[in-house]
Amino acid sequence: MTAVPLPERIDVVFCDVGGPIYSDDNFTHAIWLALDEIRAEQGRPPVDPAEFRTLYDEMREAQSGGFRATVARELLGDVALKRELHARTVPWWTHPEGTAYADALPMFRALHRHVVTGVVANQEAATVEALRRDGFGDAIDVWGISALVGHEKPSREFFAWALEQAGTTAQHAVHIGNRLDTDIRPARALGLGTIWVTRGEAPDHPTPEQVAEADVTVPDLSSVAALVLARAGARRVG
Ligand SMILES: [Mg+2]
Repeated sequence: MTAVPLPERIDVVFCDVGGPIYSDDNFTHAIWLALDEIRAEQGRPPVDPAEFRTLYDEMREAQSGGFRATVARELLGDVALKRELHARTVPWWTHPEGTAYADALPMFRALHRHVVTGVVANQEAATVEALRRDGFGDAIDVWGISALVGHEKPSREFFAWALEQAGTTAQHAVHIGNRLDTDIRPARALGLGTIWVTRGEAPDHPTPEQVAEADVTVPDLSSVAALVLARAGARRVG
């Protein structure tokens, strides 16, 4: 973990969903099934696991570029198929019971006793039900799910919407996410504190330059509540 300046007073904590809360395997599994569906219609064989893994790891290391566009180009032969790929991915993209990381709910519960909490995530509407099923319902104040809100990260509007919902300003807010391009950079550009969780779509071995982009870099969520609560602003009861 890097030692650095988060906001001195934190009133709200936002968190990405894929990577911090649920395994990104849920997404890669869905995209893989969708790719095979389209490839079957194209008369191609199923996706080669090694090739898929290589493309996925390249995206994780680069921390930029849409994965759907890359696989549409490389594995479907046409980048324009990324929309079709997206549509075919949605029905397969779920968060089954048991796929939430064990450290996510304890973090949310601990934070929620003292600060406003929220999710800011590029997710389908069904993610709300998954989070409620897994016990997060009472620990989340702001439900920033792109399919419901109408904004997608990394747009400035999405974070601005979330701040407005939380009733605070960027300098008293922190965003937790596992990607530099859609989480850390846009949040930082708006003035939020940033915590980079290096699992899922994050690289296995982040470079010093990548680590320097976030205020704090952690391998998981186990230390995050203590880190934030040391700076919690208006404490609320219950
Ligand atoms: Mg993520």
